Amino acid sequence: MRLTDLNSAQDIGANCLLGEIGSFNFLVDAGMHPKRIGNDALPRLNHLPPLDFVLLTHCHLDHIGGLPVVLRKQPGVEILCSPASAIIAKRILRNSVSVMTRQRDEAGIKAYPLFTYGELDPVERALHPLPLLSTRTVRNADGDEINITLYPAGHVAGAVGCLFEYKHRKIFFTGDVLFKDQQTVPAAQFPSGPVDTLVTETTHGATPVQDGVTRAGETERLLETINHTITHGGSVLIPTFAFGRMQEILTILNEARRRNAITTCPIFCSGLGVDLADYLDMMSRKAGFVNFRRQVLQELKVQPLSQRFVAPGHDLPEKGIYVLSSGMLVENTPAWRIAANLLEHARNTICFVGYCDPDTPGGRLLARKRGDTFLFQGLDYIATIKAHIERFYFSGHATRDELMDFARQCDPRAIVITHGDPDARAWFEEELAIELPHAKVTNPDPGKAYQI
Ligand SMILES: [Zn+2]
Ligand SMILES: [Zn+2]
Repeated sequence: MRLTDLNSAQDIGANCLLGEIGSFNFLVDAGMHPKRIGNDALPRLNHLPPLDFVLLTHCHLDHIGGLPVVLRKQPGVEILCSPASAIIAKRILRNSVSVMTRQRDEAGIKAYPLFTYGELDPVERALHPLPLLSTRTVRNADGDEINITLYPAGHVAGAVGCLFEYKHRKIFFTGDVLFKDQQTVPAAQFPSGPVDTLVTETTHGATPVQDGVTRAGETERLLETINHTITHGGSVLIPTFAFGRMQEILTILNEARRRNAITTCPIFCSGLGVDLADYLDMMSRKAGFVNFRRQVLQELKVQPLSQRFVAPGHDLPEKGIYVLSSGMLVENTPAWRIAANLLEHARNTICFVGYCDPDTPGGRLLARKRGDTFLFQGLDYIATIKAHIERFYFSGHATRDELMDFARQCDPRAIVITHGDPDARAWFEEELAIELPHAKVTNPDPGKAYQI
């Protein structure tokens, strides 16, 4: 097989791998880079061969955000995905169009939006859901055949890893994977047999596992922090990603409510995550491998965020738990606005429950100490940090040790490392050379074709 990484750098960016095997040409994902702007955010899609299909591992924007552009270039190409991803794909892309349109208006980025609402209908029509854990044979115009099996990958609702079998060769793509149960998504169920080629994510390659940190422990610590803050007259802000993490946090709060483990108080949520709760409910009922009921919002008596703007620095009229997007506290989002109300009061707490890039407001806030100042650009407001800032570990990605265990179990002749920053990839290159010395390890240069 020939494999080309079409992401523009060796990082977690616009994920897009071109596979060529026999007469088949296919993409695994076509994402949008979260940190690049305009057309630079897209993978290198200019010289694609005619594609037989695109395999979509899941609906995070760094995997799906370039798909409409692929469809524009090659109308009618089929997108193979999980049944759950087929339910939510268009909704995620619709949000991306509205975010890009806002960025064009606010920041003058003329290239935005990179695709239009009208271009999402062809994407929706091209989606071809495959049942999980069941092998499908795909034939192309040359009569060539490839077998495809999707495996649940944990990570986020609808995420899959994919096994390609072509003339006795087995190639497995992990996609983004989590080997542990989350509240709303069960752990990955990957194949147990050997494969010839393993294409693995490496997100946490530079992150050693912290001793004693477990999901259950972090859940209890989060609940204790909330209870302490609320009983001392403060409010809690939990900035979350709208797709997946917000619904997980709401499920955690509801479980705690059922067992009287949380102090009663109002709970507020913002737009997109609430809307996506309907989609996760549908994924749960119709697609499987997702456990979320929209009822959770009613049981928690979740209230919408008031549209009335409270000036920065002034505490909110209602104390409570604010579960709001965005997870990284990006400017002009509900979480960022509410942070400007809570940060200067010592009784409040901001609980980060996901990854924050150091270049985002969330990352910058985590790097500061109590008593430091923090600028809310655009609000023209500088806060002195007095609220408690807490970090909780609810990662959606496997630990590096779990990924090494899976690689050992696959016993591949070739390993391709993807979806990691340079230091994460370097750790895997070193470790794999020691642990699997017979395997050829490739850390692909962007745009270069490798015979794997
Ligand atoms: Zn992902
Ligand atoms: Zn990803």
